[in-house]
Amino acid sequence: MIYYSTNNPNLEVSLQEAVVKGLAADRGLFMPERIPSLPKAFFNNIGNMSLQEISFIVANTLFGKDVESEVLKDIVYDTLNFDIPLKHVTGNMYSLELFHGPTLAFKDVGARFMARLLGYFNSKSNDKSMVNVLVATSGDTGSAVANGFLGVPGVRVFVLYPQGKVSRIQESQFTTLGKNITAIEVNGTFDDCQALVKNAFMDKELNQRMKLTSANSINVARFLPQMFYYFYAYAQIAKRGQKLDNIVVAVPSGNFGNICSALIGKAMGLPIKRFIAANNSNDVFYQYLQTGKYEPRKSIQTIANAMDVGDPSNFARVLDLYHHSHAAICKDISGCTYTDEQIAETMKETYDNQGYLLDPHGAVAYRALLEGLDDDETGIFLETAHPAKFKGTVEQILGTDIQVPEKLLAFMRGTKKSVRIGANYTSFKQVLIDSL
Ligand SMILES: *Cc1c(COP(=O)(O)O)cnc(C)c1O
Repeated sequence: MIYYSTNNPNLEVSLQEAVVKGLAADRGLFMPERIPSLPKAFFNNIGNMSLQEISFIVANTLFGKDVESEVLKDIVYDTLNFDIPLKHVTGNMYSLELFHGPTLAFKDVGARFMARLLGYFNSKSNDKSMVNVLVATSGDTGSAVANGFLGVPGVRVFVLYPQGKVSRIQESQFTTLGKNITAIEVNGTFDDCQALVKNAFMDKELNQRMKLTSANSINVARFLPQMFYYFYAYAQIAKRGQKLDNIVVAVPSGNFGNICSALIGKAMGLPIKRFIAANNSNDVFYQYLQTGKYEPRKSIQTIANAMDVGDPSNFARVLDLYHHSHAAICKDISGCTYTDEQIAETMKETYDNQGYLLDPHGAVAYRALLEGLDDDETGIFLETAHPAKFKGTVEQILGTDIQVPEKLLAFMRGTKKSVRIGANYTSFKQVLIDSL
């Protein structure tokens, strides 16, 4: 499959190049040149298939021409060695629990797939030198990427994070791993960390000395595999013998990578009737749906902080997929926006009345179903992270203690190791050079 840039359809690259480069040379995002269709027969039998079986068929349809079948199967089965169950919450509403992976968030899926695919491309390449993944994080991305790449041969990861601005649970998920993961604690802000990474990518001399790449959600190998679990959600509705022709999916959205992969899944044949892009107060996409105008702005802090995005990076992909037609976008996607008070209220009521524990991100999407689902529809919302990852916030809202899963406690028992630097590029570059 050829991948082209959203800025220029004539800028074409292979899957390998798209994965290694991340971003196109003209700063556009890569899109698959053709959206392949899945056969009808696949959907007739889907209720009898496992997450791994379904994901391999979808992956093979997308990547089968670029990666040997046996290799791709190993990558998919290894990536998805945990379940993504669909749980009934109330009435016609279900939660797709995406927090059963190693760092208890949906980003595990894309990060694990990308790590394995990059490792494979690196082993195939004539140039056997290390690939160095640089990632700036305000919390969740760093843990998913570090754990996804842990122990992958030929790849090293540098996680930059702002000192004292990441929760202890989050910090422990990328500072206690060791091996091929280096945590860099920057005396500065998240924006400083991002600027340091950007500087490194633009440093010609450094790029001649070492292979650098990024692992953020614009990478096709992180973003496309997210569609696997939408097919599996559909399969679980089929398995329950529920109606399949009126399924609505609500996605808590920040950079819009997650929902965008689902839209491509729909274009491949997944029978989802419509989507709801659920926003917190950072609602530029919601405003775009109302007015047809896209006006990015600075993000504001909310309790669903992984969605605090003022200029969603995957918006370019949504536009491209619908040929820049506002009407076509509005036909498939509606929006909503909720304040912190509304998010908290939804978490509290759902816990008290349904006994279901929501995290702040999932709560945004669940409320979207509560307000926007018709009686004859079946609603699925994405629970994108385990509530314990936001323990302080969740406990304060619910007024009760919540249990922290053993997987998270295990990280917290580890020994923290980090390299401390000031927020200046010379120090960062020195850490990278010293690693050679
Ligand atoms: C990253 C993240 C999101 C937003 O996903 P996008 O793909 O950026 O839209 C939602 N919830 C959680 C918990 C996240 O970590």
